[in-house]
Amino acid sequence: LPNDVAIEIGKQVRDEIDNNYRIDDSRTEIINEFVKTLNFENKVKVFVIKSNEFNAFAVPGKYIFIYSKMLDKLESHAELAALLAHEYTHISKKHGLLSVGRQLGYEIFSAVFSDDLREEIIDNSNMEIYLNYSKEFEKEADLNGLKLLKDKKIDPRGMLMLMKKIRKSERRHRNNTLSDHPSTLERIEYIEEEIEKNKYQPEKNKKLEEIFNQIKK
Ligand SMILES: [Zn+2]
Repeated sequence: LPNDVAIEIGKQVRDEIDNNYRIDDSRTEIINEFVKTLNFENKVKVFVIKSNEFNAFAVPGKYIFIYSKMLDKLESHAELAALLAHEYTHISKKHGLLSVGRQLGYEIFSAVFSDDLREEIIDNSNMEIYLNYSKEFEKEADLNGLKLLKDKKIDPRGMLMLMKKIRKSERRHRNNTLSDHPSTLERIEYIEEEIEKNKYQPEKNKKLEEIFNQIKK
C-alpha cells in the first residue's frame, strides 16, 4: 500500500483537527515520551485533543488522536498502553486505508494507484471514517493490542479496564448509532478469554509509570 497516500490522508485529518479542535501541547509532548518508551516497531505520533468527547482514533500514516476527556479517565499506565497498542494496530495493519477503499467500493491491494484513485481516496478521507472502524478491524486491534502488551510485559488487564470505561461512557450517552461495531460487552468477553489463554506475569515499569503520572498532573 502506497505510503505517500497514507501521509497525505494523515495531513488532511490533522488540518481537520486544527480547524475544529485545540491541541493540548504540553500533554501531547509527554504522551509522545510514553509512546517512545513503548517502542513499537513503527514510529507514530500522538496528539491530545482538548474535547469533552470520550474517544480516540488512528489515521493512516502515523497519527493517533486521543481526546483529553478519555485521557482524564485513565487510571494506570497499563490502560494508556492498551489504548495506544490498540490504536497503533489500526495503523500497522493499515485499517484506515482499507476502510476508505471499502467506503469507495474498492479492494485496495495494489501497490500501484492510479492518480485518479489516489485523489479520490484522499478527497474522501475524513476523520469520521477513523472513528468508525468495522467490527473485524476493532477485534484485530484489541487482540493484537493484547499481544503488544504481552511483548512488553505490561498488565493485560489494562485493556479490560479500558473497555469497561468505554462501556460506562456508552451507557451514559446511549449511543447506538455505531451498530457495525462489536458491542463493547462482546469485546470485554473475548478480551477476558484471551487474557486467560495467555497468562503471564506482568512486570513493573517504572519509566511508564513515571510518565503516566506526569500526564495525569
Ligand atoms: Zn479501534
